[in-house]
Amino acid sequence: MERPRVIAKSGRAPSYEALCRDFSWAQARAWLDGLPGGRGLNIAHEAVTRHARSGLGRQIAIRWLGKRGERRELDYAALERASNRFANALAAAGVGPGERVFSLLGRIPELYVAALGTLKNRSVLAPLFSAFGPEPIAARLRIGDARLLVTTEAAYRKKIAPIAAGFPRLQVMLVGEDERLTSVPGTLDWARAMRAAADELEIGPTSPEDMALLHFTSGTTGKPKGAVHVHEAVVMHHATGRLALDLRPGDVFWCTADPGWVTGTSYGIVSPLTVGATLLVDEADFDAERWLRILEEERVDVWYTAPTAVRMMMRGGTELVRARRYPALRFISSVGEPLNPEAVFWGLDAFDLPIHDNWWQTETGGIMVANFAGMEIRPGSMGKVLPGVEAAIVRGGREGEPFELVREPGVEGELALRPGWPSMFRGYLGEEERYRKCFVEGWYLTGDLAKRDADGYLWFVGRADDVIKSAGHLIGPFEVESALIEHPAVAEAGVIGRPDPVAMEVVKAFVALKPGFEPSDALAQELVGHARKRLGAAIAPKEIAFLPGLPRTRSGKIMRRLLKARELGLPEGDTSTLEGGT
Ligand code: AMP
Repeated sequence: MERPRVIAKSGRAPSYEALCRDFSWAQARAWLDGLPGGRGLNIAHEAVTRHARSGLGRQIAIRWLGKRGERRELDYAALERASNRFANALAAAGVGPGERVFSLLGRIPELYVAALGTLKNRSVLAPLFSAFGPEPIAARLRIGDARLLVTTEAAYRKKIAPIAAGFPRLQVMLVGEDERLTSVPGTLDWARAMRAAADELEIGPTSPEDMALLHFTSGTTGKPKGAVHVHEAVVMHHATGRLALDLRPGDVFWCTADPGWVTGTSYGIVSPLTVGATLLVDEADFDAERWLRILEEERVDVWYTAPTAVRMMMRGGTELVRARRYPALRFISSVGEPLNPEAVFWGLDAFDLPIHDNWWQTETGGIMVANFAGMEIRPGSMGKVLPGVEAAIVRGGREGEPFELVREPGVEGELALRPGWPSMFRGYLGEEERYRKCFVEGWYLTGDLAKRDADGYLWFVGRADDVIKSAGHLIGPFEVESALIEHPAVAEAGVIGRPDPVAMEVVKAFVALKPGFEPSDALAQELVGHARKRLGAAIAPKEIAFLPGLPRTRSGKIMRRLLKARELGLPEGDTSTLEGGT
């Protein structure tokens, strides 16, 4: 059957034109309260305190589903008290405003309490993905100048103890199993610290420009980047929750992203709480049957997920989905990678709802482009730019190239955004030059290639750089190459994303060996094992190929683009800078 090219908008939601007409940032700010007495703006106040104090205290803020079938609910009043306690515990440990509090936790209730308590103490929350290995953790703790880390005893022994000597100033707070006290000398104990802390707190004065969140993201070269976000970002989290995710007070909202990545914090913690929704948290990893049961039994209203998960569900077929009923489910959206048109239609077949793609990145701090509820969907398009934000397709502008705006529709270029929205990142911590390079003639260059059609819909084309997207996670090839080179057999390594039908890309490494080492399957396995131990399974390469030497530019940079073209059997393009080439 021929598929339609558009999917009609849903009846009740305001049209995109009406959203644009009625929207202003001043109005979005007015949707929030601000700290009492004009003492500023604090994310945690908007997410929890104002609800706890204004009659919503008995409403469920977080409904937690444990891996082993446990279930815990925290209403807004309980979340208020627990996060107050954590803020007080931080202060008691001598952690002050502006200092960085890292978390390395799975999706357990303590993670959410720690996140909100950190913001209440006006410290900076830096969440790490719990599947990271010791090296990515150490790199990020160093960049963020970590003051305190909350983690579990098991994660501490495996991943932190080996690197702890490099962080003499770092205090560690350990969460034990089942509230049991932990037993690592020199660390703080979560249960004890929480018991000793008062559950009342008046949040101190917080400027909207105070640093609140530090999210790490990966570039093509060099170390990971620590993108700085401020308390004012909450204006964006709240407004986009309402406008782009169609969130309403009282909704059961499920964001499947892990808070170790930006989506899991902005929309997996902050946004739904500011709206007064119930945040559903599932500790377990993806499992199609489990997820469908959750959608049905927990009566999820709004579901925010990722294309990899949708594609994994599609493998199970529509029958699995249609075996259940989802009367509450109203809106499905997805982010992080391109959403194939097929997946949008699959949503219609399986759930009787289309999947609404949206686009943003760590630096933008919030959804920038979306298929809004009141908009006709063009499957394959990321949607239109958020009201209040200006987007353009541009050419050039990097490394002194001439810069131009592309005005004709349908022509490919880099997606650029005009800064000025509240959650725009304020810098890469300690890397002024890298930050400055993102801006050209007043535009922020996103690093993504896109096209805009005559009606303003934006279409994703690809990344402008070598960064890899695998199962929704941004992976810097340099970080992977650096870990491989530490193996005694490896002379040089070049890492690319090899296209994959489910994960979009998988990490593939090309390795040249040192004299005396021979390629073999056993050595390839050993290198994969080495990388997994150092980097964690989420970012280690899945495949290794041996080459006698890697293609490099005359200036010595590995030509990943060429490795990728060769892998895919594509034309090699301009190789004039290839060392020893033409
Ligand atoms: P991160 O900073 O980890 O959130 O990754 C941001 C990057 O993910 C973007 O720059 C894009 O390359 C990619 N991305 C995010 N959303 C989409 C989308 N809807 N379609 C295509 N790519 C996306």
